Amino acid sequence: DNHRIAEFLSRLGISEHNKGATSGTVWIDTKGGPNPSYSPADGKLIASVTLATGDDYAVITQKATEAFKIWRMIPAPKRGEIVRQIGNRLREFKEPLGSLVSYEMGKVYQEGLGEVQEMIDIADFAVGLSRQLYGFTMHSERERHRMYDQYHPLGVVGVISAFNFPVAVWAWNAMIAMVCGNVVIWKPSSKVMLSAIAVHKIIEKVLADNEVPEGVLNLIAGSSKHMGDNFLSDKRIPLISVTGSTRVGRHVSKTVGERLGRCILELGGNNAIIVSQYGNLNMALRASLFGAVATSGQRCTSTRRLLIHDCIFDKFRDKLIDAYKQLRIGHPLDPSTVVGPLVDKDAVRAFLDAQARIVEEGGKIVYGGQVLSGEEFASGCYVIPCIAEVENDFSIVQEETFAPILYLIKYKTLDEAIELHNAVPQGLSSAIFSRNIIETERFLSHEGSDCGIANVNIATNGAEIGGAFGGEKETGGGRESGSDAWKAYMRRQTNTINFSTELPLAQGIKFDA
Ligand code: NAD
Repeated sequence: DNHRIAEFLSRLGISEHNKGATSGTVWIDTKGGPNPSYSPADGKLIASVTLATGDDYAVITQKATEAFKIWRMIPAPKRGEIVRQIGNRLREFKEPLGSLVSYEMGKVYQEGLGEVQEMIDIADFAVGLSRQLYGFTMHSERERHRMYDQYHPLGVVGVISAFNFPVAVWAWNAMIAMVCGNVVIWKPSSKVMLSAIAVHKIIEKVLADNEVPEGVLNLIAGSSKHMGDNFLSDKRIPLISVTGSTRVGRHVSKTVGERLGRCILELGGNNAIIVSQYGNLNMALRASLFGAVATSGQRCTSTRRLLIHDCIFDKFRDKLIDAYKQLRIGHPLDPSTVVGPLVDKDAVRAFLDAQARIVEEGGKIVYGGQVLSGEEFASGCYVIPCIAEVENDFSIVQEETFAPILYLIKYKTLDEAIELHNAVPQGLSSAIFSRNIIETERFLSHEGSDCGIANVNIATNGAEIGGAFGGEKETGGGRESGSDAWKAYMRRQTNTINFSTELPLAQGIKFDA
């Protein structure tokens, strides 16, 4: 194992001590404190990053501001060509990068690879998009006038990412922002900075080969406190895309809103699956299991609540418990592992605290919830995923606990299920398992799920990059990734051109001067 870890770190150019900021190919001698990264898999120190300071931030932002003026003049399809090469470079490094993501964050190896695949997929999507940044044309009410709208680059886009997708969130934002003509400054989560550094090490060859100016793709690994002061209130940054908790998103939105900057908010979820008596229960079972325990319950789209029809409740719960008993919990790089560790001991504490609150409020833990011990689990971050019977209105159920706790809730009618479903503050992802078209169509209608993502007969998690990704209510309302989410990274301009020799006014107004 040690050999395998040393090998992927060396392929990615990660050394014992790493500089914390780059403007593309030039790494800055950052002067902040060291930020050691320990693996939740075995508790070992992987490597350390020298954090960026306010001075480093000033250098990077200045470069980014200047680079924008050059980058926006490069035709979009040519920008797309560079993104295509970045995608190919990621293909070459999928295995080592996926391994590092797995080892640094704790998600299992297959999910680490899957995350890099998402980066490749969004790069491909962005290449096509680079020739499709379409605006509309409209018919003018005035003779010999033409109207249309077009999309222009915005400027410097700030990307703040969460720990649970250490590299993909950057790609969803950066690949799209780049073809749109923007430059990017990325502030990764301090829990997974090595993965971010590895991404920049991988892509710097593409930037150098294509003589991309310094300042187009920037990384600044600084503490959130430092960045909070600088990044969020910096008027040179018209858009900040933040992926993280609702608590942090609220702060970002307030600070950026104060200067009337724009945000894309991708915040917490509290996702439910409605398991109807008309559903294929084997499929519902597998989806619930995958939804709740994949990434150890640390996905924004993880299934947190199961709303199960009364007449199948007991049977479904018992089958679910049987399935949970089969889960292989272990080292994330071991290919037979299904559930890896939580990201750190704070997450384990939150997992335990949540269970105490479930019991306090009158709920019942029906499976799991323990912290594992022993040599294999020496990092202290391994837990047995938990299932609990609760009421939807418990205060703990209303919150997002970022850990593998699955709440079971009974319902009697579809109306009740939809009401319970929507009765949480978050609105990210949702699903129904049913083969009854009246149920599924109602769930997808405007009187159904109030989430940004609503699925039929698939889990709440595991979205494809082709759709717009994001959620409503306290999830923040942002959309990223596919469909027309790119529009958030551009400024829209409406143009009216008069090719007559008159000056007719709109709305028939006569102005006799
Ligand atoms: P977090 O809110 O603790 O941190 C998110 C990011 O914000 C990190 O990079 C952090 O350093 C930064 N940050 C914290 N305080 C800041 C400040 N004052 N100024 C600037 N930046 C600051 O979240 P986390 O624990 O890393 O991730 C888990 C959360 O992310 C969960 O709530 C999860 O649902 C959410 N998430 C949402 C999506 C989505 O697309 N909706 C995707 C992944 C994760």
